Amino acid sequence: SVPRVDVVTIFPDYLAPLDLSLIGKARTSGLVDLRVHDLREHAHDRHRTVDDSPFGGGAGMVMRPDVWERAIEATASHRRSGAEGDGDGVDEGGTDGRALVVLVPTPSGRPLTQAFAQELADELGAGDRVRAVVACGRYEGIDARLVPALRERSDVDRVVEFSLGDFVLNGGEVAALALLEAVVRLLPGVLGNPESVVEESFSHEAVLEYPVFTRPARWEDREVPPVLLSGDHGAVARWRRAQSLTRTVQRRPELLARLDGLDAVDLATLA
Ligand code: SAM
Repeated sequence: SVPRVDVVTIFPDYLAPLDLSLIGKARTSGLVDLRVHDLREHAHDRHRTVDDSPFGGGAGMVMRPDVWERAIEATASHRRSGAEGDGDGVDEGGTDGRALVVLVPTPSGRPLTQAFAQELADELGAGDRVRAVVACGRYEGIDARLVPALRERSDVDRVVEFSLGDFVLNGGEVAALALLEAVVRLLPGVLGNPESVVEESFSHEAVLEYPVFTRPARWEDREVPPVLLSGDHGAVARWRRAQSLTRTVQRRPELLARLDGLDAVDLATLA
C-alpha cells in the first residue's frame, strides 16, 4: 500500500504547505498518503478542551493524555475519519493492518538526522508493515503518561520522540513539516533524479555537500572555480570531495568523528 503519514494537531491549517511543491505533487500522484486531523475532534466537552493546568503548579497548560490517546486510536483504526484537507478521495473506512510508528516532536527527543529520515522512508516505502502518525504538541507539551501508554498498545509498533534542535518552538507543527520534508523526498519515485539524494550532505556519510554554481560563469567579477568548466569528470569529482571534507572540517568538525569511510586518499586531498 501507499506510504502513509497522519498528522494530528490543534492547528490543521498550519500544515497547508503539504499541498505545495514536491510534497504536494507526491500526494497528487499517489506516491504518499498524508492526512491531517484536528485533535479537537477527540475532545469530549462543549468547549473541545484539549489541555489543563499542570499538577504541581507552574506556568502554562499541559495537553491531556486521554484526548491524545483517543486521537491516536482513531488514527490507528481509521474508524473515525477526522481527516481534513487531504482531498485525495481515499476511503477512510476499515483497518489496513499496519501498525503505527508514533512520532512525537519534543525538545527532549533524539535529534532528527538524515539517517533517521532514511530509516523511516525505507520502512514507510516498504508499505505494508507500518505507517506513521505525528503527534504535534502545543503549550507546555503533552502529559508524560501518553508515551509509555502508547508503547503498550498492540496497534503501535513504536514511539519515537524527536527534536529539531536545541531550541524551543511554539508547537510540533513545524517539526512535523520538517520531518515530512526530509522523509517524503526519500520515498520511492518522489524525486525525478534519485542521484541528487545520493550526493547530498549527510547522504551516505556525515559530510557536508560541496558548494554549487550555475550560470553566469562570471558574475560581478566573481568566477566559477575553473575546474568545474574543465569537462574533466575525474578532476571535478576530486575537487568536490576535497571541498566537502574541507567544509566539514571547518564548519562541523564533530561530524568527522562519525565518518568511517575516510581514507588516506581523501585526507591527502585536504593537504
Ligand atoms: N515545555 C517544553 C520543554 O521545555 O521541553 C516545550 C514545549 S513547546 C513550547 C510546545 C511543543 O512544541 C512541544 O510539545 C513540541 O511538540 C514542540 N517543540 C518545541 N520545540 C521543539 C523542538 N526543538 N523539536 C521538536 N519539537 C519541538
